[in-house]
Amino acid sequence: MLPEKFVLADRVLQVAPSPTLAVNAKAKALKAAGADVLNFSVGEPDMPTPVHVCEAGKRAIDQGHTRYTPVAGIVELRAAICAKVKADHDWAYEPDQVQVCCGGKHGLYNIFQAILNPGDEVLIPAPYWVSYPPMVQLAGGTPVIVPLAEANNFDLDPEVLAGYVTAKTKAIVLNSPSNPTGAVFSQKALAAVAQMAYKNGWLVISDDMYEELTYTDVRIPHILHADPRLKEQTVISNGVSKSFAMTGWRIGWSIGPMEVIRAMNRIQSQSTSNPAAPSQYAALAALQGPQEFPGRLREAFIPRRAFFVDALQSIPGVTCVTPKGAFYVFPNFSAYYGKSCNGQVIEGSVSLADYLLSEAKVATVPGAAFGADAFIRFSFATSMEVIVKGMERIKIALAALQ
Ligand code: PLP
Repeated sequence: MLPEKFVLADRVLQVAPSPTLAVNAKAKALKAAGADVLNFSVGEPDMPTPVHVCEAGKRAIDQGHTRYTPVAGIVELRAAICAKVKADHDWAYEPDQVQVCCGGKHGLYNIFQAILNPGDEVLIPAPYWVSYPPMVQLAGGTPVIVPLAEANNFDLDPEVLAGYVTAKTKAIVLNSPSNPTGAVFSQKALAAVAQMAYKNGWLVISDDMYEELTYTDVRIPHILHADPRLKEQTVISNGVSKSFAMTGWRIGWSIGPMEVIRAMNRIQSQSTSNPAAPSQYAALAALQGPQEFPGRLREAFIPRRAFFVDALQSIPGVTCVTPKGAFYVFPNFSAYYGKSCNGQVIEGSVSLADYLLSEAKVATVPGAAFGADAFIRFSFATSMEVIVKGMERIKIALAALQ
């Protein structure tokens, strides 16, 4: 017990606890009690890290790469990251414009810490990845949530966006393909938003974590292709967590203007120093070794996505936009809100997720966590068998709601 007069920092109290926690805690308790819980809440590929990557991590330890590295990460890895964006996108960056950090999440945290002053506003299209608003708040900034419409396939709408711009707008976060919707922003919308960003001098934060996991034949649009002038005011966030099934290795990176990266290095030098050395060597092997792994993930996800979307769309009252990337489906269940079963009233996404867990033994993430209460997020980074079984249970549970 803390002393009676001891108070925690205001900044902690500012950040709301995640609405997913309640469902997660309940899922764990049910599992521990022996219940057959099907888990659709996972945000990581269901394949192991490629063997050659694991071997590189082990070799790094054997070779003595077990000490501090430069704050921004080993230069070989930063050079490999530059080579990758050059090959993939024809963008020219120097290793000094790259910071390697402890996962994409940490990189985004560093960006906000480096750029925000109290009152600075950051435009965040919603549905958004859960961590953007609290990260902005923890850096003293103000998240400004810009709704995206399901009817518009969750694409950016520059006219809607314009309504949220103020003199305090300092940055915008773009995440395409998106977690949780799987949406890919259109070239047209990105070009219009690029023009706004350029004219107003905003920093663009492009979270490209799922760029390797897309279900289209053509390369997806990117704001830096829409308007290359933005390179001087864009920070790209990416990593190996999703594309190489390396969530536990904790390696991500940010690429951008030298001044911003230097400021982020200052923050990193006073917090984590550097990401784990063996993990950096493993990430280097991922980038320099065979590149077929993300394609294998895609191949595995394609039939699951097709089955999931069809099954959801066949449920009365449910709508579901087909995801163009990532490994989530984000159906709209609001037609079931206000209904009940055995006295359990479905008030919104949190109570629906709770109901699906208790009645169908299916763990999901409520849309409220992503700023979109009409929806529920399902991850299809799980086996087809689990998906088929889960959908059967969900249909039965929904049919029981009156
Ligand atoms: N950005 C998005 C959109 C994500 O979904 C995630 C992880 O779920 C991250 C960033 C962070 O990834 P990492 O595990 O590398 O921190």
